This record gives sequence, structure tokens and C-alpha cells, in this order.
Amino acid sequence: MAEVRFQQVGKIYPPRRGGAAVEVLRQLDLAIHDGEFLVLVGPSGCGKSTLLRLLAGLEAPSSGEIYVGERPVSRLRPAQRDVAMVFQSYALYPHLSVADNIGFGLRRSRPRTPLQQLQDSLHRAGRRWPARLRLPSAREERIEARIREVAGMLELGPLLDRLPKELSGGQKQRVALGRAIARQPAVFLMDEPLSNLDAKLRTGTRAQIVDLQRRLGTTTLYVTHDQVEAMTMGHRIAVLNAGRLQQLGTPMELYQWPANLFVAQFIGSPAMNLLPVLIPAAGQLLLGSRRFTLEEPLAGASVAALGQPLTAGLRPEHLRLAPATNRNLAAEVCHSEALGNEQLLTCRLAEGGHLVQVRADPGRQLVPGETVHLDVEASGWRLFDSDGNALALPLPPGPAAAKAEPQLPTSGSG
Ligand code: ADP
Ligand code: MG
Repeated sequence: MAEVRFQQVGKIYPPRRGGAAVEVLRQLDLAIHDGEFLVLVGPSGCGKSTLLRLLAGLEAPSSGEIYVGERPVSRLRPAQRDVAMVFQSYALYPHLSVADNIGFGLRRSRPRTPLQQLQDSLHRAGRRWPARLRLPSAREERIEARIREVAGMLELGPLLDRLPKELSGGQKQRVALGRAIARQPAVFLMDEPLSNLDAKLRTGTRAQIVDLQRRLGTTTLYVTHDQVEAMTMGHRIAVLNAGRLQQLGTPMELYQWPANLFVAQFIGSPAMNLLPVLIPAAGQLLLGSRRFTLEEPLAGASVAALGQPLTAGLRPEHLRLAPATNRNLAAEVCHSEALGNEQLLTCRLAEGGHLVQVRADPGRQLVPGETVHLDVEASGWRLFDSDGNALALPLPPGPAAAKAEPQLPTSGSG
């Protein structure tokens, strides 16, 4: 178990076939607490896999240093780094059984003398023989006990003799997880491990990974592009874009108080609605000719942006269908999606013709072209300056979104 620290890490891939060099990561600082589950998200190509591969030792950083605990690891071979990686593609050895795939890292972990190797392989060859004919190998017995223990945790016990081609996708991914767990590494690295599974299996395996991580307390770096995985699995989320860290915080911090427009648009589905506004007076907001009142802490923050053009953000749940009044927003329904538990409306505001998405009651019958009225939840407004950065808040935004340290296990159980 260990803390992981990226310190001023840069990665430039050299030019290929006359192309330009690709700068993937720039002076990246990122610290993952001991025992933490950190979810890494960002658009395709932003450098998520590169970050994991740098830590695993499959790539070397162009600048900076990576620490596992107190140890700088960027000059160590992958096997010396005490990290285990799980890939989207499973990467199992096709000719090895489930048991041997799980045990692979254990058998490779320490150099063996030729005599010890012979003893181990004779022991393995004799696994199906009657007990009294088997050659003893204390090490092989320890490894087999560990394989059975890990298989038990992942419900793979009955499948130990199968080959990967005889397994479903979900089972293969559990074997890949088992191989990572078996070695009891200081750090797990998982690169979109569930994205090849169908939705139902994904939900089940997601819960299983979270449960295992909490139980083992192993520091974990988990890449996903799935909103639900990002919001539910980790203690904290790191959002990466164009090689730079955009924000690091708990899922609710990022959802409620995105640091910039990129995070506001990236976290949450459907994305936050964005509208051009002005601050005519402290604590007030002008959308076209409509005036709204801001609540604290944003009312205080708005003083710094008097008269400046700003972008306001509103989540779809902060707009509500309401009876017409002269204070709310008239809009035309463009499109409606019934999702069973709710209805997602796309509406065009009469004020400025801006499109917004609105969460509505699924029972409400609405047809395109119909006029509706929308109330704005005053606490839902967010404000971003012309560079796209959230206005700095004068006060902490309340206990729910305060800068709390994530809840981590107090001691490792593994
Ligand atoms: P992500 O996992 O976030 O989708 P990657 O880390 O795989 O992104 O890739 C980041 C960028 O680096 C991409 O533009 C990709 O094309 C480029 N890249 C990745 N690996 C290499 C490589 N071995 N050589 C050159 N460019 C690479
Ligand atoms: Mg990737």
C-alpha cells in the first residue's frame, strides 16, 4: 500500500513518419492518497492511458518524476514497481488455464535457481496425479493456496481449469482482476476495464471492483469514460484535458462546483446548460431582459464581475416546468425523451433562443412546438468568466461541498 505522486511529469512522444512530436502530458502534478480509489476521466486522446502506462513502466516520462510511496520509480523496470495493471482487452494468456493466469505474476515474482524451477514444474506437472505421487514444492503450494483464495473472492473457483476462450467477457475480466490482486501490489491500475462488457454485467462488476478495493485498501487509479463509473466508484475524480489536470475533487464537488467550463460540460449527463449573462448589480443576474436573484455564496462572488459578460451554468434539474408567471422563462419544447423514470426535454428559450435541457416528470404529456414555462432554482446558478474559469467563491460553498478529505480506510486489511 502506498501513496502515488506524479511530480511535474511531462510526456512527449517522438515524431513518427515525418509527423510532429506529440506532447501528451504537461508538468502534471497529481497525488493519490494511500488507499484511495482515484477515477481519471477526460476526452479520448487526452493522455489517460499514457498516465497509467508511465506509472506501470510501459512508457518513460520525458520530464518529472513518479513516486510510489517514497520511492522514485521512473527508472525501475515494470516488475520492480509493485503495481499491477488491468486492461480493457483483458490481456490473458490464451494457452494458460484460469488458475495459471491468476498465478502468473506470483510465479514470475522471484528469481529461481534451475533446480528450484525444475522442482516447481514437476510439482505443477503432477497436479492431477494422486497426492502421494506428487512432488512437494512449498512455494507451489503457497501459490496454489493464493490462487484459490483469489478465485474465491471473485467467484472463479469452479472455472480454475478452463482456458480463456471458454469464458464469457465478464469472467475473463474477473480473471484479469484476479491476476492483479493475486500479487498484492501497492497500486492497481485499471484502464477502462469494464468497457467491453454489456450494461448489466458492467453494473455487477463495477460493484465488485469497488467492494474489493475498499476491502483490500489498495491505492487504485481507474480510467473510465463512463459517467456513472466516474460518479460512483472513486473517492475522488481527476479530470484531464489536453494533458493538463482540470480539477481534482470528490464526485459531488466536481458536480456541484466545477472549476471551469470544461469540467462543467464533462461531468454530468446531460451536460450543464450554458447561457450568456451579465451581472447588473451585486447578487443579480441578467439573462437578456430577464433579471434573477443569486444566492450566497455566488451573490458575494458576483461583485467581482459587475458588468462583465459571463457564462452561467444551470444543471437540467435546476429548471422546472411551472405555471406561467412574469418572473420565469417561456420556452418552446423542441424534443422530448422519455427515460422511464424521467423525461428529458430540449427547449428553446424565448429569451435569446438558447437551447436548454430540462428534467421533467415522465407523466407530463408534451408535444414539440408546445410552449412551457420554466422556473429556475436560484441555488443552481454557476458563473464562469470569459476564460471559462468559475468565479472564485468568497466563502466555502457549504458543508456538502466543502474541501473534505475523502473517507479512506483507516488501516489496510490485506
Ligand atoms: P487516452 O487514453 O486518454 O485516450 P492516450 O494516453 O492513449 O489517450 O493517448 C494520448 C495521445 O498520445 C493521443 O493523441 C495518442 O494518439 C498519442 N499516443 C499514444 N501512444 C502513442 C505512441 N506510442 N506514440 C505516439 N503517440 C502516441
Ligand atoms: Mg486510453
